[in-house]
Amino acid sequence: MSNVHVRIGEYRYAYHTDPDCPALNGKPETFKGMTEIPREEAEKQDLKACHQCKK
Ligand SMILES: [Zn+2]
Repeated sequence: MSNVHVRIGEYRYAYHTDPDCPALNGKPETFKGMTEIPREEAEKQDLKACHQCKK
C-alpha cells in the first residue's frame, strides 16, 4: 500500500500521487500545507484519485 498526498484543511476532494501536482499546490489563499497518508485512508475519507497528477 503506497502513500498519497492530500491537502490539509478544507476544500479537499482528491488525493494525489504526485507531490508536485498543480492541483495539490494551487489556491494559496486556502493552502495550509499537505500531508501524506495511505491511499486506503484517503479513499475512506471519500477522496478521489486526482486526474492532473503525472505520476
Ligand atoms: Zn494531483
